[in-house]
Amino acid sequence: MVLAGESAGGAVTRTVPADGPGCRARFLLGAYVLGGLSEQEEVVVEAHLSRCARCRVECEELACMPGWLNLIPPDEFGEPIA
Ligand SMILES: [Zn+2]
Repeated sequence: MVLAGESAGGAVTRTVPADGPGCRARFLLGAYVLGGLSEQEEVVVEAHLSRCARCRVECEELACMPGWLNLIPPDEFGEPIA
């Protein structure tokens, strides 16, 4: 006796979870916060962010970076204190 549904062997990884390592948008987040995406890609990322809490958190963390980097002027790195 053959059970229905058993014939499609190996098709278990069909569904990709909304958040998790399978998030393709995660790879775009860095470029997104830096404004390096095309308009089309931005739409994709924004749509994903509205559904995916995990990427939203990640995006917020990344979003801190550009402003944070701007707080330190490049010249100040090489200057000796004193
Ligand atoms: Zn996500």
